Formats: sequence, C-alpha cells, structure tokens
Amino acid sequence: MLTVAGMASPQVVVVGSYVQDLCWKCERFPQAGQTIVGQFATGPGGKGSNQAVASGRTGVPTLFVGAVGKDAFAKEAKAFYKAEGIGATFVEKAQHATGTAAILVEDSGQNEIVVALGANAALLKTDVPAKALTQAKVAVVQLESNLTTAAHVLKTARRAGVTTVLNPAPMRPDFDPSMLASVDVLIPNETEFTALVNRLRIAGRTDFTEAALHALAPAALHALCRTLGPGTVIVTLGKKGCFVSQKSGHASIAAYTGIRVVDTTGAGDAFVGGFAAGLVKFEGDVLAAARFANAVAALSVTKMGTAPSMPTKAEIAGFLR
Ligand code: ATP
Repeated sequence: MLTVAGMASPQVVVVGSYVQDLCWKCERFPQAGQTIVGQFATGPGGKGSNQAVASGRTGVPTLFVGAVGKDAFAKEAKAFYKAEGIGATFVEKAQHATGTAAILVEDSGQNEIVVALGANAALLKTDVPAKALTQAKVAVVQLESNLTTAAHVLKTARRAGVTTVLNPAPMRPDFDPSMLASVDVLIPNETEFTALVNRLRIAGRTDFTEAALHALAPAALHALCRTLGPGTVIVTLGKKGCFVSQKSGHASIAAYTGIRVVDTTGAGDAFVGGFAAGLVKFEGDVLAAARFANAVAALSVTKMGTAPSMPTKAEIAGFLR
C-alpha cells in the first residue's frame, strides 16, 4: 500500500479510479492502418482521482482511495498527490498494470478514448480504510472501478451516517440498480440519466432519449428524478448548468457564461468533487453545494486537461468574489 499523507482527517473520501491519461493531439484521427504524426501529453486522470483532486483543491480535507499497479505510472500517481498535498491510499496490485486511457484529440475538438481499467477493477472491499470512510462527512463513488467495492462503500458509509454521493459514470451493463438504495445524492449527466431511466424502465420506458429529456418541463423532470430513489438527484446539463431535484422541490442552476471555454473534459468530475466539498463547506446545504460545484466546474473548463484543470481555493474565491 502506498499512502500519501493529507492535511487533516478527511471530510470527503472518494473511492474510485486512477488512470494515467495518455493524450495525443492530431489534425485528424488516423484511418485504420494509417500512421500520422501528432503531439503528446500525459498526466493523472481517472474519474475518482479527478473528483478527489477537485474536492481537495477547494481546501476541504480529502482522501482518495484507489488501486494502481507496481509500475512507473503508480510512482507518478503518488508523486502527484504528494505535490498536491491531498491524502491518498493507493493499493498496489502487482499483477495488474496501473489504469490507462489512450485519448486522441482532433484539432476539431472531437475525441476518441480507450480506457484500460487495469488495477482499478481489482480494488477490494478490504482495501478501503473503514475508519476514514465512516468518520468522513461525505463519501463519493463512481462506476469506473470495482462495482462490488463501490456498493460496499455506499452501504458502509450510509450505515455510519455519512452522506453518500454516486456519480453513475460510466454507465455499465453490469450496474446493479439496487446500489441506489444506499445513495443520498445521485449525480448523472444527461447520457447517464437517460440510461438510468431506460435501465430502471421508469413508467415502462426503454427508449428515453436525451432529446426527450431536454423537452421535459422542470416539473416533469422533477417527477422523473423522484422515481429513481435517492433523496437528491442532480442532473448536470453541460453548458445549460444543472437541475437539482430534492424531496422538498426542484431548482435549475444556470451555467456561468462569459468564461473562456478551452476544454470541457473533466467538467463532470469537477462538478462532483466540488459538490462533495461544497456539502462540507455549507454544512449539508444541497443548493449551496450545487452552486459552488457549478463555479468549480466552470473554472475547470477554462483550462486544458482533467485533474490539472481543477481550480484551487484561491481561484474559486477570486471567481466568486
Ligand atoms: P465530461 O464528461 O466532459 O467530464 P459531463 O458530461 O460529465 O462532462 P457536463 O454535464 O457536461 O458533465 O458538465 C458538468 C458541469 O460543468 C455542468 O453542470 C456545468 O456546471 C459545467 N459546465 C460544463 N460545460 C460548461 C460550459 N461550457 N460553460 C460553463 N460551465 C460548464
């Protein structure tokens, strides 16, 4: 186990994926069999890790728990967290490689991505530090690592009175909807929300589309969110902001305009991490946390990359002043 010491005892615990992003920029995607010349950059990524970085950079003590291989990328992961001053428990899985993502970005802005989960899929229930989890205020999981472990984290945290957040990304065929019973706050994007409605056959639907989602009046979207189970459902809507549905009512929060949008990759992770930190900062006030997340995500799209694009506490304070 590689442990990187954080600041204080963690208030947000994120259990999920660490992936080394390997990114090639090219004029146009190569055809099958073709070789082209492009530019290369690499850096830390993975939905879980990105969300932990987004939370940690706000100044809220955060712990990331994930699995890596015994290779150079694992060393890079540890060095990155040390430099950030964010706590991390990287469980070494010697028989697996650290997760990687091959990302091709065309000059048009389009991308093509292949993710190899590697060690992430081997993260076990027993790898998650129970004390840190049950003493946190907020626990966050996604669907990019081991689903049995993710379900265990949600159950254990919920039993201990910790607020549980699920970002159902990426939506997978082996996702078990019974996981939703342990979720306090569900944060899907438009694609994941649509997939969930179809998977759960809400009102008999199996052909719900993003276009149908956009056509819904707020009251109808709220009603649909209520059928999913969790007390709070927040649908992120890209440049349209987000929709917050709680038992007590619903609200739409517009995305920030007038910012220079450079790269929206990782915006969803910025939102989820920012929201978890916001829940701590605003003592469980969901709407205040969602507004804070909206600002964190807006700042993240003004920079290239995923984890490196997450804003710092000072940048957020300057933006919200
Ligand atoms: P990704 O997969 O690219 O990480 P996502 O699809 O998971 O993103 P989105 O719904 O696209 O997530 O975006 C998440 C949040 O980021 C939005 O709710 C909004 O707060 C912010 N956001 C995204 N795009 C923009 C934008 N163009 N301008 C301002 N804010 C944005």
